[in-house]
Amino acid sequence: MRRPLVVGNWKMNLLRRDAVALARAVAEWARRHSQPELVLCPPFVYLEAVAEVLRDAPVGLGAQNVYPQAGGAYTGEISPAMLADVGCRYVIVGHSERRQLLGEQDEFIGRKVVAALEAGLQPILCVGELLKQRERGETQEVVRGQLVQALQGVSEAAASRLVLAYEPVWAIGTGRVATAAQAQEVQADLRSTLRMRYNATAAEQVRILYGGSVKAENAAELLAQPDVDGALVGGASLRADEFLRIAACAVA
Ligand code: PEP
Repeated sequence: MRRPLVVGNWKMNLLRRDAVALARAVAEWARRHSQPELVLCPPFVYLEAVAEVLRDAPVGLGAQNVYPQAGGAYTGEISPAMLADVGCRYVIVGHSERRQLLGEQDEFIGRKVVAALEAGLQPILCVGELLKQRERGETQEVVRGQLVQALQGVSEAAASRLVLAYEPVWAIGTGRVATAAQAQEVQADLRSTLRMRYNATAAEQVRILYGGSVKAENAAELLAQPDVDGALVGGASLRADEFLRIAACAVA
């Protein structure tokens, strides 16, 4: 069985004091609940402070981005080994905000996936269609294409360490959530794409999260779908009570 996973993507929010307080509240809750697995993704500059709070707590640490090189003259960038060194186990890759605001393309995203895996990190690979693509009936083609291109360099042995997140772009930060049926349809298709690209065992092991305006009031229905193994939560992860109400819905 796949262990449910709920990830908080704090994006470019919070200052140190609030980041630490939020991590403390999540850590305290996680000590009392064995399900789901929880992961927090603070901004780079607070990774160490949050790692310190999470040191003895069953909460994972993730980064929001990574650069696909081991080191060198890449001003402003952070390597996979640096993330592992400060305690990260996960890294978000291919988020639609980076695709759209920073022009990241599938080939570059694929290199990040490979670099993260080589450093022992678990990439959380985000894929999702634009509203106009959904309206034109292109969702499946777009999302499959993003997945296949990003996985080009990923071996069968490494595939089971991937986490995927289906994040329809029209649902991110908009308050407009996909229906449970829409999420299930795309996520089942992603799993069958994994089955064809790798094998049935790997496809069954990969956790596929839904992300896009997940809130406490819509989480239970989404998380009850057979191919929705958890949630990637943006805005609602900035308040401990809301995030933990979502987490409480993600029990296998
Ligand atoms: C996200 O940033 O990955 C996300 C899903 O954001 P929100 O929950 O705010 O829509």
